[in-house]
Amino acid sequence: MSTNPFTGLRWIWMNGRLVDFEKATVHVLAHALHYGSGVFEGIRCYTTPEGPAVFRLDDHLRRLERSAKTYRMPIPYDREELTEAILELIAANDLDACYIRPLVFRGFGHMGVNPLPAPVETVVAVWNWGKYLGEEGQRVGVDVCVSSWRRGSPGTIPMLAKATANYYAAQLIRMEAVINGYSEGLALDSHGNLSEGSGENVFLVQDGTLLTPPLSASILPGITRHTVITLAAEMGIPVREEVIPRGALHICDEMFLTGTAVEITPIRSIDRIPVGTGEVGPITHRIQSEFFAVVTGQIPDRYGWLTHVPARVAQVAT
Ligand code: PMP
Repeated sequence: MSTNPFTGLRWIWMNGRLVDFEKATVHVLAHALHYGSGVFEGIRCYTTPEGPAVFRLDDHLRRLERSAKTYRMPIPYDREELTEAILELIAANDLDACYIRPLVFRGFGHMGVNPLPAPVETVVAVWNWGKYLGEEGQRVGVDVCVSSWRRGSPGTIPMLAKATANYYAAQLIRMEAVINGYSEGLALDSHGNLSEGSGENVFLVQDGTLLTPPLSASILPGITRHTVITLAAEMGIPVREEVIPRGALHICDEMFLTGTAVEITPIRSIDRIPVGTGEVGPITHRIQSEFFAVVTGQIPDRYGWLTHVPARVAQVAT
């Protein structure tokens, strides 16, 4: 049984200050509630030998800035301020490993589709979030299907931005998958080629090479995806970003999902057809081990990907 991940949380960071968890509320006429006008991030903080550390914080905040720019939403705080806010919030809630959710949205003050007159609000929440598709899923792989829903076409909605409204399509994909007995659904792009999962990027392994769809396939430019591409290059595993036709899904040797929530989760079957032998394959294993060694600080942080939560901040806030 899953426990409530919000139990025991004391603080939310809201518009520049820490607010009691219960008091971090918005008006029912907030623009975002009616028109989906928000951009957000999902980030993880891991326990490392030197205390809690946030993985690729600056890269996530840069993506948040880009998402906000797309929607002409000026964030009232710069990257340094948001970094401080996040580190302070983790310490104040006395968390070690956690999930971090910054959200920038249009608040209360104006109704009508045009978001520009509505005020921009900024919040950050943190909570304990275990394995998104289950412990077992991460170990032995998950069963996925190809969704009957497609990702938005490039001329319909910018999928490069991590906007709340994109997750209407994602919800349709995920509901359909779960109701039909799968862990997750993979969506095709508007041309019928592979795009991504409802909240994850996808990699295939074919004859020792990693394949993943390009940005033009309506994917979110995942930070875990970029991490995998970087680590694979280091490990001498060839990677190609290329258009992947649906048919390739059924004949590849290995397949896995990447994302902040799912981390690296193997896929063991697609539309009930086993991927490879149905066991987690050797390349997926290698990538998974390297990824967890990097994020948990077991091996040197050669790319400066870890931001440690300073003990000084922890003392001030608690
Ligand atoms: N695609 C979608 C639609 C997502 O929601 C996510 C999760 N943010 C990803 C891909 C993976 O991105 P990241 O690795 O940056 O978490």
